[in-house]
Amino acid sequence: MNRFPVYIPRDAVWLLQKLRGAGHTAYVVGGCVRDSLLGRTPGDWDICTSAKPEEMRRLFADKQLILTGEKHGTVAVVLHGKPYEMTTYRLDGDYRDHRHPEKVQFVDELSLDLARRDFTINAMAYAPGGEVIDLYGGQADLKAGIIRCVGDADARFAEDALRILRALRFAARLDFTLQPATAAAALAARDTLQTVSAERLYTEIDGLLSAPFAGKILAQYGEILAGAVPEILPCVGCTQPGKWHCYDVWLHSAAAVQALDTRGQDTRGARILCWAAFLHDIAKPLCRSVDADGAAHFRGHNQRGSAMTRSILRRLKAPGYLIEGVTGLVAIHDAPLPTADPEILRWLNRYGAEFLRRLCALKYADLDAHAHTPDVEKRRYDVQIFEQRMLLLAKNGCYTIRQLAVNGGDLMHAGMPAGPAVGETLNTLLQQVMDGQLPNEREALLHTVRTHAGGTR
Ligand code: ATP
Ligand code: MG
Repeated sequence: MNRFPVYIPRDAVWLLQKLRGAGHTAYVVGGCVRDSLLGRTPGDWDICTSAKPEEMRRLFADKQLILTGEKHGTVAVVLHGKPYEMTTYRLDGDYRDHRHPEKVQFVDELSLDLARRDFTINAMAYAPGGEVIDLYGGQADLKAGIIRCVGDADARFAEDALRILRALRFAARLDFTLQPATAAAALAARDTLQTVSAERLYTEIDGLLSAPFAGKILAQYGEILAGAVPEILPCVGCTQPGKWHCYDVWLHSAAAVQALDTRGQDTRGARILCWAAFLHDIAKPLCRSVDADGAAHFRGHNQRGSAMTRSILRRLKAPGYLIEGVTGLVAIHDAPLPTADPEILRWLNRYGAEFLRRLCALKYADLDAHAHTPDVEKRRYDVQIFEQRMLLLAKNGCYTIRQLAVNGGDLMHAGMPAGPAVGETLNTLLQQVMDGQLPNEREALLHTVRTHAGGTR
């Protein structure tokens, strides 16, 4: 009988039985146990076992195997198109023995393998027919909503600084808090994040930002995250005028991340928005000035923020599309939106509808992280009006040369000689169509061209 609260997939049970049938011990472990106990559907089912990699390879010789992790003890078996990772019980030489960072030490005991895992909620194992093996109070921490290091938090973060960000990411995903000693150790060790590779930092921060409670965790633990992105620190406590704001720059940024609505965005769009909300005001502390009347201003923080965002994302080796998307949004996040059709069409021409839809999503999140006043309401309403009109014009309007009812061939057919003048004329026609001076109709456009050509001949 499977007494586990959640059904373990048939293929994972089969792997456990096969390993056990060959005289080894084997359990599902880590994230899948945590997620199952939370009533969530696990993404992967990882298995830990006393079997060594070469024994696993022998046992599953007739299956498709992925052996890229073999030297760390991991053999993946592909069953029905899905890979299952099986890892030999090990100590993490990766982190403990800096002289031989590539080596891991295989061991026979499950308890030793659980001891090297990062958090109590990630250090539980289970096999059908038994109890959940929970040596560090993981189930109690799951119930209490706590991220707690296995063992001494200072030592665990010293072994692997990336765990600092993993703690934040799991808290943001599950709406958990860091147990006080874990939080204190993470804060004390934050600067060691500088020793972690850019790629690993990027991946963890990206996972954190896209988690459902990211904003809440940023607000609570921004000073920890500042170990990876030091530009955060001046934002903490940087006050803003009460007429518009109820938060300092950092809490405002965190609230904007929390307020983001990424529905209707594809994966890349959602990712761009998360990073843009996180970084949109990053230059405010640098741009802060105070007028004679005592009011704070942040002139130039769009452009400066865009440059800072570029340098942060480059440092983190973020993908090119993310750097372009985020810096583009930050550069105009606070610019006034056009209200008249010709200007909206010019923005569509310059930025494209997808970008402008993202800009609106960022502006809603930004405004929802302001004080709730009639002035802020009004600004939000203006964004709505812009968005509606922009989407309508994106569908029906003409704002690119390709959308004109005539093309270069038509112009030459009408008597215009080939050459740069063709492109220039098309562009002039587009400007006139966008301005509403000409309808986007073939005859009207050709008539204008003929008249113009006749006049200059
Ligand atoms: P996710 O749903 O994000 O995949 P997960 O818990 O499965 O969550 P993984 O990164 O896939 O996380 O790692 C699997 C398990 O390996 C973890 O549950 C944890 O027990 C252990 N682990 C992973 N990374 C570390 C680390 N840096 N230090 C210690 N243990 C780790
Ligand atoms: Mg996993």
